[in-house]
Amino acid sequence: MTAKEGLVFGTAGIPRSSRTLTTQAGIERIHELEMGCMEVEFVQGVKMTPPTARDVARVAAKGGIRLSAHAPYYINLNAKEPEKRSASQERIMQTARITALMGGDSVVFHPAYYMKDEPSHVYATVKTSLEQIVAKLRAEGNRVLIRPEVMGKDSQFGTLEEILQLCSEVEGVAPTLDFAHWHARTGKANSYNEFTAILRKIEKKLGKDALNNMHIHVSGISYGPKGENKHLNFAESDFRYEELVMALKDCKVRGAVICESPNLEEDALLLQNAYRKL
Ligand SMILES: [Zn+2]
Repeated sequence: MTAKEGLVFGTAGIPRSSRTLTTQAGIERIHELEMGCMEVEFVQGVKMTPPTARDVARVAAKGGIRLSAHAPYYINLNAKEPEKRSASQERIMQTARITALMGGDSVVFHPAYYMKDEPSHVYATVKTSLEQIVAKLRAEGNRVLIRPEVMGKDSQFGTLEEILQLCSEVEGVAPTLDFAHWHARTGKANSYNEFTAILRKIEKKLGKDALNNMHIHVSGISYGPKGENKHLNFAESDFRYEELVMALKDCKVRGAVICESPNLEEDALLLQNAYRKL
């Protein structure tokens, strides 16, 4: 069922209703729920061993589940200290290596903080860093896509424009479009027309292929003047997820939608059901 669909839905990490808290059991649960993807969370560090990653690949292939991975939170490609910058690069590469072993296609990460620097300066720093990362991975034969995320706080590098510009300039870099973050950061971007405008902007900037292979994050969210406060379930938030799935359908978006609401699979299923009813 899911394989035929151009857009698949899943959770950020192991579903709450998973039999055990292993990645393999999580993937099996995604399959049971008739969803199509899961993001493996390495947010506290990449601790999975290569043999486990190969077993994860086997389970995912069996269920036809598409995998991506979220790199550790401790990444700042604009850190002042050179050793922190190289450690950040290494964390992205570690995640990419284990993702390739899992048979996954994408690595999601939070690229940098502005650290009170000029945004244009931070952009140049992040761009150079991503060029180096992609060159090293390709030299290793690793083809995983590096996907910086649209971020929700004013202090974080990663506006929609910055992420799309990076993707247009660096080969091997593609967006993670977090609609909840962008809504929280702008206080807008929460209606069918605005969602459609964002998707058209991506098409214009990166080409039709980008909409054929999107990686999307979404959840309910609370926010204030400085952007994101925390993720919420849709029911407790103002996020118009039904209008989002309508925009995704009408713009013929293909790829993966990862739900980051605290209730994980409940909201992922809400999204999937809303999408399938269209
Ligand atoms: Zn993230």
